[in-house]
Amino acid sequence: MAKLDQFAQVLVDVPGLAPLDYRIPEDMLAAPGDLVVVTVGARRMTGVIASITAASDVEGRRLKSILKVMKTTAPLPAEWLALTRFAASYYVRGWGEAALPALPAALRRPPTPQQEKRIAGIREAAPKARGDASRAAPPELNDEQRAAVEAVCAAPGFATWLLFGVTGSGKTEVYLHLMERTLAADPEAQVLLLVPEINLTPQLVGRVEARFPDLAVAALNSEFTDRERAAAWLSVHEGRARILVGTRMAVFASFSKLRLILVDEEHDLSYKSGDGLRYSARDLAVWRASKLGIPVVLGSATPSLESWMKAKEGAYRLLTLSARAVEHATLPDVELTDPPPKGSRGMISEVSRAALEACLAEERQALVFLNRRGYSPVLSCPACEWVSTCVRCSAFTVYHKREKALICHHCGWRRPVPEACPSCGNVDILPRGTGTERIEEELEVLFPGRRILRIDRDSAAKKHAAEAAFGKVHRGEVDILVGTQMVAKGHDFQKIGLVLVLNPDAQILSPSTRARERLFATLMQVAGRAGRGGERGRVLIQTRFPDDPLFSALARQSYPAFADATLEERRESACPPFMHQALLTAEADQLSSAIGFLEDAARAAAPLAGDDVLVYDPVPMPLVRLMNRERAQLLVESVGRMTLHRFLIAWNQAISGLRTSGNIVWCLEVDPLET
Ligand code: ADP
Ligand code: ZN
Ligand code: ZN
Repeated sequence: MAKLDQFAQVLVDVPGLAPLDYRIPEDMLAAPGDLVVVTVGARRMTGVIASITAASDVEGRRLKSILKVMKTTAPLPAEWLALTRFAASYYVRGWGEAALPALPAALRRPPTPQQEKRIAGIREAAPKARGDASRAAPPELNDEQRAAVEAVCAAPGFATWLLFGVTGSGKTEVYLHLMERTLAADPEAQVLLLVPEINLTPQLVGRVEARFPDLAVAALNSEFTDRERAAAWLSVHEGRARILVGTRMAVFASFSKLRLILVDEEHDLSYKSGDGLRYSARDLAVWRASKLGIPVVLGSATPSLESWMKAKEGAYRLLTLSARAVEHATLPDVELTDPPPKGSRGMISEVSRAALEACLAEERQALVFLNRRGYSPVLSCPACEWVSTCVRCSAFTVYHKREKALICHHCGWRRPVPEACPSCGNVDILPRGTGTERIEEELEVLFPGRRILRIDRDSAAKKHAAEAAFGKVHRGEVDILVGTQMVAKGHDFQKIGLVLVLNPDAQILSPSTRARERLFATLMQVAGRAGRGGERGRVLIQTRFPDDPLFSALARQSYPAFADATLEERRESACPPFMHQALLTAEADQLSSAIGFLEDAARAAAPLAGDDVLVYDPVPMPLVRLMNRERAQLLVESVGRMTLHRFLIAWNQAISGLRTSGNIVWCLEVDPLET
């Protein structure tokens, strides 16, 4: 009998493309999950075999053959294929667009002899067990921690747990115990710990390594080189690394036997990708756990409203850690105080100065938080109307005194600070407003001789600079720490007695409800840095709006009060999570082209939308011009997730078929965070 021909459905990274059929040559061994080389049009590309079929359904067509199977790596497991397929479908992209970018670039290269050697080298560089590390004795769990660990371990199979624990309550300790139990139960089991972007990873990886000196711990983060990524990825794929600690991209890692997923700081915005697939790593983690039939634990002191609602509804199971874990450590007192009167020279009021003084006198550290880097957000001329703006964006350029530059925080465009007003020649151009650099300067004047350290994205621009800076704080080599978001989260500072928050008022006044919610979460987090070591901590906030309800919830350190009230508002105004949304954005050389395109898209949506999907009017984006491109957006929403999903699939096709002019680039984003 004649042998049946075999065909492979191959995923390639080409926008909007469904899997492509290729013939498998008779003498070629190929399996689903294999990396292959194929030609698409005239281009050679790396692809992944999604499935293999016998002749019949594609018979008769003259298909191209697969050129080569890359046998350097074991095939990707079916579970991984299912994950990328789901992600592609959910975020309305081609399967290949989800699958290929999830693989490290170093492994996607064509299989030359050099490449095989390179991969062997990468395998050598894989993380290894350290063995000799001095094993730190883990603390005895307290009752709430133990109850949390037991609850998760007692429920085999899939469940989503929301570990709601106040700052410093020992969530990380719970993760470590859960890992230990899972890894001990099965010598091949693997655990995934997802963490927010960048600055947390080294600290946390160190803590995990110290606890598991006999196991290989892999880490993945966007700052890694291709080679580092590939080494970590391969060791997890091949089952040699038992633990993977990584930022959002790690949710797409290929595991041989994943048995537990942990998502630290699950509310963190960095879990949502800002380009490409625009996925939510947290949401995909939950989906992946459900398909694998394993537990997933989402931890936070300030859970996302989505997760909080699911916990209230009973879809997620709530675990609470209500007190700080370290003996005698309590949550800090929160006090409000007026900013300095208008016209004052500095930003730090007399009350705040005295509080800093008192904290330092007790030989404790102080943290000054201001969510704005640079010296001042804009430079202006008092003689005319000139203000410093970006030539490429509709935004001010920020004055950076140390660098003597005006820098656009959106696109990076910079120019030297002009000596005189470019418009009228006045030499007295002035900084307006305050950023961390200016606060640092003010503190140096107020507290001469004290060791003041600023940590923000400018001071920590170099690789490992943030790590080194945080090391200084931990070792007590800093008296006053000044910083942005970067210092607010996660760090287990032991000696901070006072947290001073400057100028939250801009966000208080913001019309965006999400800006307020983020402010609340940030303030809870930054307040959580105080008093972790055992002695009472204090939080002082300079605001003109002491009566805002946000502060009363903060003063009680009550996330539930805030979250419940906010959810109620969201329900009344039919906002997410009570509504499902997608956002179509378009950019063009001219705003009018972008709007015109979105108007066409809205017309195309009308017959598809029915009564259950609401299509809004196109509007310019809040930051209209970015890097010389002008942008607009169109929101669609529905109460039903499936209704919206079905609509999006049809609409996406309709948009793809629209004729465009004026250099349009468009993007459809599901579950957008900014609307
Ligand atoms: P979170 O992640 O909730 O902010 P961590 O896990 O970082 O909290 O723990 C905060 C501090 O409490 C750490 O210094 C940790 O070593 C300590 N800790 C955690 N659990 C315990 C415990 N059961 N007993 C004593 N100290 C603990
Ligand atoms: Zn001027
Ligand atoms: Zn710019």
